Amino acid sequence: MGKDTITKIIYIKFGELVLKGKNRHQFSTLLLKNIKKALFDFRKLIFVYKYDAILIKNIPSKSFIEIFNIIKMIPGIRLVIEANLIPRNRIKLCSFLTKNLPKKDFFTFKIKTKRIDKKYPTSSLEFDCGIGNFVLKKFCNAKVDVHQPQILINIEINNECFIVYWNKQNGLGGFPLGINGRVLALISGGIDSPIASHLLMKRGFHVDFLTFISPPHTTKKSLTKTIDLIKKITLSKRIEQPILYICNFTPLQHEIAHISNHSYQITIMRRYFFRIAQYLAKLHNYSAIATGENLGQVASQTIESIITISHVIKDTIVLRPLLTYDKEEIISLAKKIGSFEISILPYPDACSSFVPTNPVTKPKIAIAEKLEKEMIMIKAIYEKTIKNIVKKEI
Ligand code: ATP
Ligand code: MG
Repeated sequence: MGKDTITKIIYIKFGELVLKGKNRHQFSTLLLKNIKKALFDFRKLIFVYKYDAILIKNIPSKSFIEIFNIIKMIPGIRLVIEANLIPRNRIKLCSFLTKNLPKKDFFTFKIKTKRIDKKYPTSSLEFDCGIGNFVLKKFCNAKVDVHQPQILINIEINNECFIVYWNKQNGLGGFPLGINGRVLALISGGIDSPIASHLLMKRGFHVDFLTFISPPHTTKKSLTKTIDLIKKITLSKRIEQPILYICNFTPLQHEIAHISNHSYQITIMRRYFFRIAQYLAKLHNYSAIATGENLGQVASQTIESIITISHVIKDTIVLRPLLTYDKEEIISLAKKIGSFEISILPYPDACSSFVPTNPVTKPKIAIAEKLEKEMIMIKAIYEKTIKNIVKKEI
């Protein structure tokens, strides 16, 4: 890259940086580390760290869009900007604008100059006017609109160059992955639990996963689907290597199938899901467990049901990021992050293979406890089940 050439760069502005002092430093250091990890495959990139932003230079043009799209999915980034580094020479700047602004269509614009190098001889306002007049002369279809311009041409005057951009896109926002501790998410092959995990990652949690399988009722394909979902939401493991705990639930499920009140099958099954999740959370020091539960979607998700199910794990917090979401909202998020197509593949889930005809909608704790006492073998089966949990690095 010669000193005189114009180069395309990516300019990243941070997320919720109302944070101050030490927190801010921790936030930006972790974010830079995550960005570098996510872009590890692109060895030649150069990262320049600024107070509230990061510049990425030396981007191979064939990988520009791929890199841009990866950055858009990294938690903690507010804006991802396609920018241009132009030698600090007004003629070069004007010729760049001539080449790159729309030629035929009508457009409104505004120039917004920021003079980072305070020694630069022209004030920001004079610079705005000078460049604005140039654009007006050159483009007869252009008009200035200082309030709501279609194209807001940002020009930063730095020590050695101008940085020019008008194509800004929203990043994911939130906090850098890992800043908020570790969570164990219960993940199925459904639409909801991957989105719940995604939202927690966006909030800065490192997420590991627990899935229940019930072979032969569920097949290898169901597990592969869950693994594909995890890969999707963890940016193909670019930033962190998640762990998946795989629990074979079949022996417990067969035992639960014998209870005298079948309408409680799902309730009891889910009480065991939570017991196992709590066991793992304590064993491996997770701060909380998480689910894709959503109030009122299905029989097992009424408030009474949530109370009866979570009663078995009094001292572990359960995070339910989707509790109040509409199904449409969840689906549109799933489409946005690309998990939807995987979730709708028609492979059976541990839950779906044992749904009773009339699941209870308002289960009672006392009844659930009484039914659990009927299962004399359950304790031994439970002990064996947790012993056989497989830990897999995704
Ligand atoms: P999802 O789309 O996430 O499967 P759902 O709308 O189907 O959710 P339920 O089947 O009641 O709702 O499951 C509620 C939550 O319980 C799920 O979001 C997930 O966190 C957990 N869960 C359900 N099935 C499994 C499973 N086989 N393995 C692990 N967790 C599960
Ligand atoms: Mg489900």
